[in-house]
Amino acid sequence: MSDPFPRRGGHLHAEGVPIARIVEQAGTPVFIYSATALCEAYDALTTALARVRHTVCYSIKSNMNLAVVRTLVARGAGIDATSGGELFRALRAGADPSKIVYSGVGKTDPEINRALDAGIKLFNIESRAELRRIDACAEAKGCVAPIGFRVNPDVDPRTHPYISTGLRTSKFGIPIAEAVEAYAEAKALDHVCVVGVDCHIGSQILSIEPLADALARVRSLVEELRKAGHRIEIIDVGGGIGVRYQKEEPPSPALYAETVIGIVGDLDCEIVVEPGRSITANAGILITRVLYQKSNEAKHFVIVDAAMNDLIRPSLYQAYQRIEPVGPPRAPEQTVDIVGPVCESGDFLARERLLPRAEPGDLFAVRSAGAYGFAMSSNYNGRPRAAEVLVRGERFAVVRKRETLEDLVRGESVPEELTG
Ligand SMILES: *Cc1c(COP(=O)(O)O)cnc(C)c1O
Repeated sequence: MSDPFPRRGGHLHAEGVPIARIVEQAGTPVFIYSATALCEAYDALTTALARVRHTVCYSIKSNMNLAVVRTLVARGAGIDATSGGELFRALRAGADPSKIVYSGVGKTDPEINRALDAGIKLFNIESRAELRRIDACAEAKGCVAPIGFRVNPDVDPRTHPYISTGLRTSKFGIPIAEAVEAYAEAKALDHVCVVGVDCHIGSQILSIEPLADALARVRSLVEELRKAGHRIEIIDVGGGIGVRYQKEEPPSPALYAETVIGIVGDLDCEIVVEPGRSITANAGILITRVLYQKSNEAKHFVIVDAAMNDLIRPSLYQAYQRIEPVGPPRAPEQTVDIVGPVCESGDFLARERLLPRAEPGDLFAVRSAGAYGFAMSSNYNGRPRAAEVLVRGERFAVVRKRETLEDLVRGESVPEELTG
């Protein structure tokens, strides 16, 4: 599919459904996902890697809606989880535990135990202290945990500092120089079994070189580990493939696969990849309604009903997300700030953006909102979280109801002495 959100007869659609029709039923703000776009992104990667034994483990943190996860799992995807909650969601969506890998710097005993009970494919261990915890948990259960270390190759992925994870200064993984020693320690333990090596250097990576540099270092490590007598069967190359938000030129699935296969394809390992953003980002949009407009000497503001609590990427990473009207564009264009109702000057979806004139009641679509959109949303400012809709062809379903005001106070209570 060229664009899952095409404009037909002047009106924006999600696949075959007019967006205005979805909004009639689901309201705003609403995230809309294209099942076809999700499947196509997954298929493109798995097809590009077809020459080697591999598992595409969708990184569930980018979009954890059960229907989105189910769509990918039904297509054959495994899951990359980074918390017990993500593991729970993956299993609830029907993921095959033998295709689940589990990373994260702060795994707790209950999380480790649930992963052991599920029988996951691989623990990506991020410290030697964690190695000992996993060994102890597995011993208590009388089982053996399949493990690898997440190694930190000290490579700069040249992306936003908040989403760089493979630098020496990062909290993630163990320094690659200490890996041999860490693997030796693992080998001496009875309730872990070394099966893999893992590396994930960051997100929204737009050039192939840092990925290639990291992989070359992983390759050397695998050779060294094998000399030391370890059976390395899995190389987990992480995720991080960039996407186009504006004019970026990310590596294609073909180039990415060529690079991976070229560097580690001859090691007779299963290749695990953990894409998140590259599967979901451009399969989703956020629809918001214009509430008000106002101007001062410096600015023209369009105030909409979606805010930083719904989509934090512009505020947090100064990220650019394309915005367009859902209906036929009105003339003339004007330079505006698109802002939400939250009480923060950092609450904006776009700044100094040239857009068709808006009127209260108009709908706007924020593109590329499928990854790290709803997943990072919050109830800040007492705002119920948005609804989510999944579209396939001519059909759509609300796959997460908009939160109610009652949802906002669920689980809270006031001590009796305060109610008297
Ligand atoms: C976030 C994350 C990913 C996915 O990153 P994307 O940039 O969304 O592809 C993969 N692996 C790990 C360990 C992560 O933390």
